[in-house]
Amino acid sequence: MDSLNEQARIEVAIIGGGVIGLACAFYLAKNGHEVVIFDPAPGRGASYGNAGGITPGWVAPTATMSTLRALPRMLADPLSPLVIRPAYLPRLAPWLWQFALSARAHRVEAISKALASIAMSSVQAWEALAEDAGVSHLIRQQGLLYVYAKSRTRTGAQPAHDLRRKRGVLLQDVDQAWLQKFVPTLAPEYRYGVFAPDAAHVVDPGALCDGLLNATESLGGRLQRLAVTDVALEPTGVRLHTAKGSWLAERIVLACGAHSKELAAQLGARVPLDVERGYHAMLPTPGLELPTQLLDGEGKYALTSMRDGLRLAGTVELGGLKLAPNYARAQQLLTHAKRLLPDLDLRNPAYWMGFRPSLPDGLPVIGFAPDSKRAVLAFGHAHIGVTLAPVTATIVADLLAGRQSSFDIAPFSPSRYA
Ligand SMILES: Cc1cc2nc3c(=O)[nH]c(=O)nc-3n(C[C@H](O)[C@H](O)[C@H](O)COP(=O)(O)OP(=O)(O)OC[C@H]3O[C@@H](n4cnc5c(N)ncnc54)[C@H](O)[C@@H]3O)c2cc1C
Repeated sequence: MDSLNEQARIEVAIIGGGVIGLACAFYLAKNGHEVVIFDPAPGRGASYGNAGGITPGWVAPTATMSTLRALPRMLADPLSPLVIRPAYLPRLAPWLWQFALSARAHRVEAISKALASIAMSSVQAWEALAEDAGVSHLIRQQGLLYVYAKSRTRTGAQPAHDLRRKRGVLLQDVDQAWLQKFVPTLAPEYRYGVFAPDAAHVVDPGALCDGLLNATESLGGRLQRLAVTDVALEPTGVRLHTAKGSWLAERIVLACGAHSKELAAQLGARVPLDVERGYHAMLPTPGLELPTQLLDGEGKYALTSMRDGLRLAGTVELGGLKLAPNYARAQQLLTHAKRLLPDLDLRNPAYWMGFRPSLPDGLPVIGFAPDSKRAVLAFGHAHIGVTLAPVTATIVADLLAGRQSSFDIAPFSPSRYA
């Protein structure tokens, strides 16, 4: 089957083994399909270094008028929570234009509804997937707490919280006394909070991917540690080309995250996929354990107690796939976190940068390729790929089985920018 010749045939090939591809692979293997995952380094892309949040309340889009108003400031300060690398600006311009169009009030409302339709059930979807795949021990349901030191920032966040409440997200406004009682290690200057009790988080996103891969392999799924260089539609399947030969797959799922654009184009889908680069700093001996995931309303990053330390992760840098990382952005997370948690032990930090795969409207691409029902596209999950992995996998499994999905997938159409 895996001989390196032109005749090798497989039933379903998953291109890309991040959390999205692996969740799809697991569901498809569980449904009895013969599955082969192609990825030179599964579970080591964005799905490795993220903040681990399973966040049903991520229903307030990034593209808003207030983000647009802040753009000039972002160009000036390379360390602000959202920056544009000037060298990348010319290439980014068409994406930014579409981003600006997404910020119109009626689009914000539609995008928020579309996000809610797939994000609100994410914790329950993860519970089911995690139990089936044997990774429940990696998920904690401890909520998410937004914290603010300045009343101005708290007020600025109100429209996003209003939108979350409008979509049905459970949020509790909490005061300084509540914050001190719940998170005694929090600096007293943090006086405003909003608690989302329904959120959960993963305590080791890399191990979560490893667990999904193991579970898929135990159902007969296989891994080819190879990058797919090209895909081509043929009358009886989709041909995958790699440096070590080609395979003919009856059907494929394209889930290469930030690296999906060119392969999608070969399947007839021209999507304005770009990347929102994010950073993390991992503290192996933080000296404290948080009772919930925190989101710093000023620094715009999450603080997550994980199995092997405290992870500070987030911020957005628009700079494409090729520019060198600016690790000063990860280092400054330490300064922010020390202000928030004065007892924090900052020794031996490890830094990381990863690529969120992002469409200008912040919605993923989930659906058949325009040119063939043999190919399903599943990428572009931006800030919430961990959150959306099980729901995405359910939709993909339904599409490949010819079943009607219980989700309305029109907003995620690969052709929506055509
Ligand atoms: C700092 C940061 C914090 C985040 N925090 C959260 C959070 O708290 N909650 C949340 O839900 N989301 C979060 N995210 C977003 C989330 O990490 C991503 O949306 C998600 O990991 C995307 O998963 P993916 O499988 O599409 O991509 P990836 O994890 O990047 O996987 C893509 C895979 O494709 C493979 N690949 C690439 N090209 C090829 C090829 N040609 N052939 C074969 N394989 C290929 C790569 O090796 C990789 O393994 C965060 C992201 C960042 C950067």
